[in-house]
Amino acid sequence: MTSLVLENITKRFGAVAAVDRVNLTVPDGSFVCLLGPSGCGKTTLLRMIAGLEEPSEGRVLVGGDDVTRTPAHRRDFGMVFQSLALFPHLSVGENIAYPLRIRGVPRAEQARRVEELLALVRLPGFGERPVAKLSGGQRQRVAIARALALQPRLFLLDEPLSALDAKLREAMQVELRQLQQRLGITTIVVTHDQREAMTMADLVVVMNEGRIRQSAPPVEIYRRPADTFVADFIGITNLLRARRGPDGAVRVAGGFLAGVTLPAEEAMISVRPEDVRLVPPEAAAITGRVEFVRDLGASIEIYVEAEGQRIVAVASPRERPDLQPGATVGLALPADACVVLGA
Ligand code: ATP
Repeated sequence: MTSLVLENITKRFGAVAAVDRVNLTVPDGSFVCLLGPSGCGKTTLLRMIAGLEEPSEGRVLVGGDDVTRTPAHRRDFGMVFQSLALFPHLSVGENIAYPLRIRGVPRAEQARRVEELLALVRLPGFGERPVAKLSGGQRQRVAIARALALQPRLFLLDEPLSALDAKLREAMQVELRQLQQRLGITTIVVTHDQREAMTMADLVVVMNEGRIRQSAPPVEIYRRPADTFVADFIGITNLLRARRGPDGAVRVAGGFLAGVTLPAEEAMISVRPEDVRLVPPEAAAITGRVEFVRDLGASIEIYVEAEGQRIVAVASPRERPDLQPGATVGLALPADACVVLGA
């Protein structure tokens, strides 16, 4: 039972609240990504979970135990930092065995565990190699193996993949997720990379200015963002001003939007580019002028200006819409793809 509960966690540095009244429940065995822009407080939050930083207020509960004042080394957590903090003069095996040695685990048992861990992170036979001669991805795996050596209750990682190049990072995201699922270990990863969060997490926690803005499964974060910050931060979206007329009809970008109701006279609507449909202008509620067409090979983005608002639509190359800048185009925004957000 190693669920994690954060109760009203706050961390103030002087007058600034780096983390501001955060409440979060991480179920046993789940993979959570703390996601947000630079300075939003995600590292500070992770450090409080780890015991490396003391909260100004609030409690940290692990498996039901209050560990708020328990020092980091007595929490039984495994940690990987962006820097990895491997010992460069030691071999791979010595690095992984290090926490076992500190705990006084007998040598034979150490050797057995190291072999197991090397297999786990897919580096069998690497025990004797000097760490200095490994690739970035291999070092990453050594750091992960070392963090898991003592079979921690929680696995905490701070930007563990950000030093890797894009291709390797994507491969390691999948690998880390698969490893976590095999072990069933409750895992919390800090990242500023939303693709990374979407790839790995059961639960994405989006933070801004020390607060949690939304905490939900990746698809829900994408399809049903809670506010304009989340909608804008996750993927590409169209954030459009909508107005409700006296008759209740909703107007967006000079056209009527059927099937959508607004809670107030004005609101923002988020609609993803892949949900915007291109239709013949004669039949369209919204018409606009093509500003720019970006052919990315796998998809084609069409930038349209309609009544002073920019709307991006994505078409598949199969459709290959024959649109040139300056052309008039019709747009349809399906009601079920429109998320109504606060003003
Ligand atoms: P990044 O992605 O850039 O690492 P982050 O989301 O992890 O950002 P934090 O490192 O948690 O953000 O920092 C949150 C806020 O708290 C920032 O404004 C930062 O300047 C401030 N902060 C963090 N640590 C300290 C400290 N020890 N003393 C004073 N201010 C701090």
